[in-house]
Amino acid sequence: MSLKIDHKKLIMRIPGTGNFITLDNEKCTLCGRCLIICVMNLWKKSDDRVHLVDDYASHCLECGACYQVCESGAIDFRYPAGGTGIVYAKG
Ligand code: SF4
Ligand code: SF4
Repeated sequence: MSLKIDHKKLIMRIPGTGNFITLDNEKCTLCGRCLIICVMNLWKKSDDRVHLVDDYASHCLECGACYQVCESGAIDFRYPAGGTGIVYAKG
């Protein structure tokens, strides 16, 4: 029996969030904590810099974990404007 949860059945997305996560590369120490914590695997490291995938807003769970673990304050996270982003169907 599989215990895997299909999160796509639990949420719907309302488009129009714009950018709600920003990164200040000057502050980033390349510690990699954001890459480890993001369950959606939206942070990447290439050419000695960290970045979000281009379409992160279409996959992000708005959990804020990346913001919480970034000890250098390089990540800024704001919830998307009201009426956009994730709506959880359950919970
Ligand atoms: S957690 Fe912050 S400092 Fe560490 S790699 Fe990610 S953005 Fe850079
Ligand atoms: S808010 Fe959560 S899901 Fe979105 S990029 Fe950060 S860790 Fe990943």
